[in-house]
Formats: sequence, structure tokens, C-alpha cells
Amino acid sequence: MRCEDILRCLADYLEEDLDALTESCFLDHLEECARCSALLHTLEKTIFLSRNIWSRQLSPPRQVIRRVYYQVRIHYRHR
Ligand SMILES: [Zn+2]
Repeated sequence: MRCEDILRCLADYLEEDLDALTESCFLDHLEECARCSALLHTLEKTIFLSRNIWSRQLSPPRQVIRRVYYQVRIHYRHR
């Protein structure tokens, strides 16, 4: 997997929606790539915080994921 693939899988990963094979590739990449693992960490923290705010919401708010996702895409593109 490349960083672009990680970005594409992030929302599904956070919603535990990846199949086993994709998830293992995903996790392999995270172990090798400091940038993506830092990104996931940030994203999990963001979702954790927004879950606290919207505590009645059961699933991770897709809007939050999408917002972070676009910020990150811009970030990646400018490197
Ligand atoms: Zn990466």
C-alpha cells in the first residue's frame, strides 16, 4: 500500500469496515510509515474528542473523518 491508499482506507478502517487482508496491509504500512501512523493518531484523537462532544452519536462521525481527510490530502500534496 502507498500513502494514497492509506488515505482512501482511513474512514473504513476507523469504522472497522475493512476486510482482513486490506486491514493487514494497512497496518503493515503504518508500521513502516511514520507519516501515516502520525496521521492516524491525529485522526483517532480528533474523533475521540468529537465523540465526547457528540456523545449520543454511536458511529464515528463521517463528517469529521472527511474534514481531516481533506486537510491531510492538501498537506500531502504540498510536500
Ligand atoms: Zn504512508
